[in-house]
Amino acid sequence: MTITGQAQQGGGGDGTGTPDVFNERASDARINLEYLLRIAARTAHPTRRTTTPAEHAAVAVARVQEIARSPGAHTTAQDLRDALHEADKVRDRAEEKFSYGPCSCGVELITPKSRDQARCRECGEVWDVHQLRAFRHVAALDAAHDHRGKLAEVVKVLNLAGHTLKLNTVCKWVERGKLRPDDDGLFTGRSVAELSRT
Ligand SMILES: [Zn+2]
Repeated sequence: MTITGQAQQGGGGDGTGTPDVFNERASDARINLEYLLRIAARTAHPTRRTTTPAEHAAVAVARVQEIARSPGAHTTAQDLRDALHEADKVRDRAEEKFSYGPCSCGVELITPKSRDQARCRECGEVWDVHQLRAFRHVAALDAAHDHRGKLAEVVKVLNLAGHTLKLNTVCKWVERGKLRPDDDGLFTGRSVAELSRT
């Protein structure tokens, strides 16, 4: 939502931004902010016609003294502050991004969390984010199963990859001889994970 930036910059925004996804709260925030900016522009310069939010904001900022002298100055200022605050909150949420790791061309795939597809900004390839998530999950499990280390560390790595193991339980497997360390006293993720399925 560039509108917030425009208002804060006094109309200097480039006007190219639009919300990425339809979000009713963001839409309400935009409508409310546009309305308040138009009111502010009319108050600042009653005879000047402004049509875009950037124009409203530019006129309001250029003649802010007129707004300050108007009877409703305090309310206008408070309403604008509230509207900008709300717009900031919904904008941050709309733009929350997620990284899905590298594309086949090597460039990191970053896309808003709400999207079902990630388009590579370098090569233009479009990926299904559900497939990417599944792939990452499998890759994480593979890496965890290949991990070799001390028992607590192996359990931690497995749980990070999606297992739900309790260290106490795994320690009992060792005490009972179900799970044995290798010659170095270490365990592999795979040996622990295999027991967790039995
Ligand atoms: Zn790419």
